[in-house]
Amino acid sequence: MFGKRFKLCTCCRLNVYVDASCLAVAVLMGGWLATSVVPFNFPSLGEQACWLIGLGGMAGWLASLLLHDLAHLLAARRMQAPTQAITLFAFGGVPEAGGEAPNPKSEFQLAIVGPIASVLLAGAFGGLAAFGQATSWPLSLIALLSCLAGMNAVLAAFNLLPAFPLDGGRALRAALWKWKRDLPQATRTSAFNGSGLGLALSVVGLPLLLVGGLLPALACVVTGLSLHRAAWTAYHQFLGHQSMRGTAVRQYMRNIAVAVPISATVRELVDDYIDRYDCKQLPVADGGKFAGTIHLHQALRIPNDDWEKYSVRELLQPAGRHQKVSPGAGVIETLSAMLANGVKCLPVVEGENLVGVLMRRDLLDHLYSKGTATGARPATVG
Ligand SMILES: [Zn+2]
Repeated sequence: MFGKRFKLCTCCRLNVYVDASCLAVAVLMGGWLATSVVPFNFPSLGEQACWLIGLGGMAGWLASLLLHDLAHLLAARRMQAPTQAITLFAFGGVPEAGGEAPNPKSEFQLAIVGPIASVLLAGAFGGLAAFGQATSWPLSLIALLSCLAGMNAVLAAFNLLPAFPLDGGRALRAALWKWKRDLPQATRTSAFNGSGLGLALSVVGLPLLLVGGLLPALACVVTGLSLHRAAWTAYHQFLGHQSMRGTAVRQYMRNIAVAVPISATVRELVDDYIDRYDCKQLPVADGGKFAGTIHLHQALRIPNDDWEKYSVRELLQPAGRHQKVSPGAGVIETLSAMLANGVKCLPVVEGENLVGVLMRRDLLDHLYSKGTATGARPATVG
């Protein structure tokens, strides 16, 4: 819904990002627990305890999402599916630019492990709450465990909705894929479901305002709109991936004119290159040969008045193995790596020669334009 995301952590060598919608739902969830759910179910608890449980529930919601998605990622690793980063949305995680599962069976298995993990977590928290009740644990701890059990059950149930890119939508896509042998059609139908269900959910939030209060109504609207947007985005990513399948980096790279000459001064670097290319790290060429990279933060450490005195040669950094790419490399794998490592531009090197620069923005623009060029939107979008 919001499109802003923040890096949460690196887990099992994967970058984990949190979308703004996920944080919004976590805050709304915590507030709802503290003001409605806990006081109603545990009336003997004081206001302070209710808010502490709300905070715990908020953190628990994020942790539950993370564990749900770790189950997906571990399954993807086992199947050697190319997943390198994940973004947590309001309702779960979406693997980023990781390509497609090789067959319907793998797609189904990858989808279903997340809800299974959430059901197991719900059972574990529910079992602990029951054990705590039987052995007289503090009531606030029992309340928190009960909330965590309920949230994981809701997470499992919600993710099983047949709405792509939710797990249920991916399972539906796998079934349609196996039945019709047509992955694009299966994806389109599942994404249509996802977009429609997202809109329906956001509309349901309005009557919920009268029955359940402001916070669950807002959570419903945010989640619904987030699902609607995610369906649309995932469908376009799929179309983009299809169009880029089997293509190589050389088809998308910019020509060598983007590279900074090794003799350029720092002032020329800042004025003529960095601002123009929206890139904090640029490749440097020495007579057509790749010399290394230059970072904006290194240049900006030099006082403004001395920018003419220093040249790029003095600030040059040799490029590591992952900081360049060959023109024949697969573009989908390269984009996945760029997204996973936060790289905006990558030198394209053939032998010792710098032959071009690959800009992440160009690839994402291509993904989006290919997706919209078909006119096959999954639903009406504002
Ligand atoms: Zn999932």
